[in-house]
Amino acid sequence: APLRLDVVTIFPDYLRVLNLSLIGRAAAEGLIDLRVHDLRAWTHDRHRTVDDTPLGGGPGMVMRPDVWGLALDEVLGREEEGRPATAPEPPRRQVLVMPTPAGEVFTQRTAEDLAGADHLVLACGRYEGIDARVAEHYREAGVEVRELSIGDYVLNGGEAAAVVIIEAVARLVPGVLGNPGSVVEESHSRAGLLEHPVYTRPVTWRSLEPDPVLLGGDHGRVARTRRDQALLRTAVRRPDMVERLDPAELDAADRAV
Ligand code: SAM
Repeated sequence: APLRLDVVTIFPDYLRVLNLSLIGRAAAEGLIDLRVHDLRAWTHDRHRTVDDTPLGGGPGMVMRPDVWGLALDEVLGREEEGRPATAPEPPRRQVLVMPTPAGEVFTQRTAEDLAGADHLVLACGRYEGIDARVAEHYREAGVEVRELSIGDYVLNGGEAAAVVIIEAVARLVPGVLGNPGSVVEESHSRAGLLEHPVYTRPVTWRSLEPDPVLLGGDHGRVARTRRDQALLRTAVRRPDMVERLDPAELDAADRAV
């Protein structure tokens, strides 16, 4: 079955970028099943209100747990008020993803993990965020809830984060990328290194030339050169990644770099 992705947001149009490029094609080909829902569909008042002032005071508005509860019960396919759920059987591994700058940091490991799920529901916050009881409630109800931050900065809403998470996850779904080898040795892959720099034709451009080994056709030397470049680049740009490297991943030639 395709990876099912449901996004709940007050700005459904924001997610239209996912109709483009590889993710759009994957959806068109049925490799992923992407559905976007307007949170306001679960409001019942004339103004379609989704927010209220923060308890305890302070600036801004907070998204209401009752509206989110109705939306997520339905999208997660859970029973509401004794009525049978609209979805027939809940899929095998379902994850409720809640983007928030206060969450655990989303990494390539997280993307790999989520790509193994059957159903991801992404709840996009706005304003000062979603009432904290929503995450608490679904966790207590036995739902796997992941509060994820895409980095140490604050966005206006969860939609951009949802796009980032979906793109990083969906490209790991088999068949989405034309060349499955592309995802094996990338930056942040298991090797724990940044990828080596890449080059194409023309060989000389504005008097700049890549390492001539890349032109020699000796695959062993090309691999060694790229590995050296990856190690150097990681050491210079991301010393934190070098510190986390598993020494078992390094060979004698690596140590010389
Ligand atoms: N008051 C919140 C705080 O300081 O933690 C920030 C709320 S932010 C203005 C509104 C929404 O944007 C959040 O509910 C979340 O959905 C999303 N968001 C903002 N920054 C994010 C980040 N770094 N990663 C993931 N989602 C983020």
